[in-house]
Amino acid sequence: MTRHKTKHQIYTGRFAPSPTGPLHMGSLVAAMASYLDAKAHDGIWLLRMEDLDFDRNVKGADQHILQSLERCGMQWDGEVTWQSQRQALYETALQKLGNNVYPCACSRKEIADSRLRMGEAASQVYPGTCRQGIAPGKVARAWRLQVPDQVIAFTDRLCGKLSQNLAQEVGDFVLKRADGFWAYQLAVVVDDAAQGITDVVRGADLIDSTARQIYLQKLLGLPTPTYLHVPVVTNAHGEKLSKQTGALAFDRDGVDILHEALLPAARFLGLKMDDSVDDIATFWSKAIPAWREKFL
Ligand code: GLU
Repeated sequence: MTRHKTKHQIYTGRFAPSPTGPLHMGSLVAAMASYLDAKAHDGIWLLRMEDLDFDRNVKGADQHILQSLERCGMQWDGEVTWQSQRQALYETALQKLGNNVYPCACSRKEIADSRLRMGEAASQVYPGTCRQGIAPGKVARAWRLQVPDQVIAFTDRLCGKLSQNLAQEVGDFVLKRADGFWAYQLAVVVDDAAQGITDVVRGADLIDSTARQIYLQKLLGLPTPTYLHVPVVTNAHGEKLSKQTGALAFDRDGVDILHEALLPAARFLGLKMDDSVDDIATFWSKAIPAWREKFL
């Protein structure tokens, strides 16, 4: 059920970067979109470090992200939260899911091999090997959520009506990984609810995760926020900007943040920004109404 804000419930948005490196233009666009939507609603904007993948975290990246946001004039409300300090909450949620979760002993190779047999169309779907129990002699590695053969539908504020059949398009997905780390899908659902997030604004690369998150919210009895997924920035090869595709930090020595980061990010989001902006405070004072006009 979409959470309808009552007069007592203030708009609460968030930016939830993974501290795997400095912010690049793609993550700046996501940060800006969530910030502008919160400001356009006179709401609260929280900052949450999604640092659960200890193998991918980069030392100091969290502080670099905070400094870059401050240099951009994007001040978050309240204390920053770190998911690594909230792991007891994810354990409680996993317990609450009871028989909906089961241990899985499959290695990546075994999953890939069974996918081959299932053909192209089902290439991403977990074949359900451990649903009925782990084969003798095998050891539990991960915990998966059993998903129904049922369509989960939601309305994205930008993309409109979307739906996904979890059993057919995703398969039983991992909540606790074989390496012992909590999976993004569970942590994001627990934290969005615990932090009272009413509106999620993020990159379209996460659209595909939304039905999974809504299903988890339902099982856990948590409200569903509204969703807005903004286009992702791609490089000259059409790849999403990321550390893997070699995206540069936008906040580097010699970069003019206003003209080389903020204004291009706003234009990428389709905001009408004239050239008369010559300082960061003016930038925001124009970007907020421009966002309101386009997205509210
Ligand atoms: N931590 C995720 C990322 O960096 C974003 C999660 C979200 O906004 O739901 O891509």
